[in-house]
Amino acid sequence: MESKAKEKLEKFLHRRETLKELRKIAGKGRKSLVISFDRLLEFDMELAKSLLDNPIDFLDTADEILEGITKLPGMRLRVMGLDKTTTIEIRKIRAGSVGKFIQVEGILTRAGEVKPEATEAVFKCRRCGEENRVLQVGEFFREPLVCENPNCGKRGPFDLLIENSEFRDWQSLCIQEPPEKLRGGRMPRRLDGIVRDDFVDKAVPGNHVMLTGVLRVFQEGRRQERKKTFRKILFISHIEVLQKGVEEAELTPEDKAKIKELAKDPWIRNKIIQSIAPSIYGYDAIKEAIALQLFGCEAIDLRDGTRIRGDTHVLLTGDPGVAKSQILKWAANVAPRGLYTSGMKATGAGLTAAAVRDEISGGWTLEAGALVIADGGLASIDEFEKMRPEDSSSILESLEQQTISVAKAGIIATLNTRTAVLAAANPKYGRFEKNLTIAQQVPLDPVILSRFDLIFIMRDEPRADRDRTMAHHILELHRAHTKVVKPPLHLDFLRKIIIYARQNLDPKFDDKEAMKTIEDFFVDWRRVAERGEAPLPITVRQLEAIVRLTKANTRMRLSDRVTVEDANRAINLVKRSLQEAGIDTETGKLDIDVLMTGKAKSQRDNIRRVLDIIKELEGQYGGVAPVEEIIRIAGSEGIRQSFVEELIEQEKIKGHLYEPKQGMVTRAVK
Ligand code: ADP
Ligand code: MG
Repeated sequence: MESKAKEKLEKFLHRRETLKELRKIAGKGRKSLVISFDRLLEFDMELAKSLLDNPIDFLDTADEILEGITKLPGMRLRVMGLDKTTTIEIRKIRAGSVGKFIQVEGILTRAGEVKPEATEAVFKCRRCGEENRVLQVGEFFREPLVCENPNCGKRGPFDLLIENSEFRDWQSLCIQEPPEKLRGGRMPRRLDGIVRDDFVDKAVPGNHVMLTGVLRVFQEGRRQERKKTFRKILFISHIEVLQKGVEEAELTPEDKAKIKELAKDPWIRNKIIQSIAPSIYGYDAIKEAIALQLFGCEAIDLRDGTRIRGDTHVLLTGDPGVAKSQILKWAANVAPRGLYTSGMKATGAGLTAAAVRDEISGGWTLEAGALVIADGGLASIDEFEKMRPEDSSSILESLEQQTISVAKAGIIATLNTRTAVLAAANPKYGRFEKNLTIAQQVPLDPVILSRFDLIFIMRDEPRADRDRTMAHHILELHRAHTKVVKPPLHLDFLRKIIIYARQNLDPKFDDKEAMKTIEDFFVDWRRVAERGEAPLPITVRQLEAIVRLTKANTRMRLSDRVTVEDANRAINLVKRSLQEAGIDTETGKLDIDVLMTGKAKSQRDNIRRVLDIIKELEGQYGGVAPVEEIIRIAGSEGIRQSFVEELIEQEKIKGHLYEPKQGMVTRAVK
């Protein structure tokens, strides 16, 4: 660094306020002096500019000065808060930024294990026993060339004395473009980074971070065949974990005034619902569900440490070509921190999280999956049924507790997945069969199904009147583009309303009448089950769903007081979803067991009956039961042949039945 610039820097770091702060930092055993770029800029513009242009030089000199002042090795100057407009998008980093001090924003997707990095290595000469200290500056490990002992001066050999060497903490990270910057479903770009000393483990995967640092490059390829291309690594100076609510900055005072004005509009609810996916025709209930999902409600932390989630999960299933994917993409696009992915591809870490090999450190690192990245927002997951087996084991935890625990390859961590999930699943047989239950045709574990607050089945049934209006709607779209589907609220404004509501409104549940309405609904529906043989139509899970949806309804009205109408709307939506999804197609009765266990009560009765028939036949036919006979007897009692055949297949797979000869079955355990 030039002597004149160095003088200025000396002066800057010797200001009284800085010295005071340094004493405080040293007293706490910390090592980093954090200053905002503004302070540097106010002090001297040229000095600030030299940080941006020659950061390595600048920071090395600064660290030296700080070590001199505090007499503590390893003191660091960290600069944060560059002007927001100079933040570079990860995908826009170009050769011009190499060697420069830059600021980038992203989501931390990986944080490697913290490793000790040598800062000063001590080598013992095998010939004379002299201990040589070698400062480890630069990026590669350095050994002494010759022994320092003037009487020796030989080229070693040397032994590294680990216990006398000095180390500092080191960690490799990877950040990815934030989902909201990825409108239009582009693949996110990534940037590797390295962080040292007391800034390791500052952030965990899933955190939104603002990083400053020096962009450096390292040659690719092995030693013999070096390439001309280099890989980028950000040497991180400062990490700021952006709190939930950063989006609030997007709202201008005029926006807020407009939103408050809208809050008085009696038609606000309808206006919002009509603005959901306006180019898609119909599906009013689904649009209402998505609107409620976008507004959401706060989670409740109970005194005993458990937590009731506030996010609503919605599952869409049904025939192909009914705009499921289209709706999902729209929702991910409008939601703050929204993300669209497919269960099949997702990111490298899938939907949840994975321990992966890290290129820079060679060790294991934790990589955040889609749900972690969407923390604090909404995750649209298409082809949900195709999620990878690793994901299906942790998806339950991430839907209900909204965390993911990873204990793999020596990494133990808990990541947050506080996001609403809008999933779409395709039925097993292509089209949705009317007379089969959801659990029979959506290839998802019933336990996972039961975690969704609302499930909708979208059928593509020809209906002349509806078809004509829909065709007209779609054709008009093509003719006039956006002119026809002018939603009551503009997309950008809708996003602002959502941001505003989520940050400023936490509806209180203290309306007696609203509470009673929900209570009555719950008790009445349960009473049906109590009275006799009827299957259980509703569980506590649905009760919680209704509470969540009620509060979301309140928030959607831009209010924080729950009303009876909010409760009634929530109940109606849950009823609708239950009727679609929870219907037992054998009896036509509403049966929550269809969701919870995948088997309706009538079905369980039938299973028991068929197994009894097999037992009876075994007695008559000397230990084996002819399949034809089973089908005949079951049929005479009204149990369908396809049901019996499917059951026998499944029981064979489970090992409960086997086939000693063609057309005969016998129970494994009698
Ligand atoms: P899915 O994911 O359910 O198989 P897609 O979202 O890929 O279906 O939809 C197929 C196409 O049909 C899309 O271009 C979509 O816009 C259109 N489409 C289907 N139903 C509607 C509808 N109700 N209104 C407008 N467009 C629709
Ligand atoms: Mg699709």
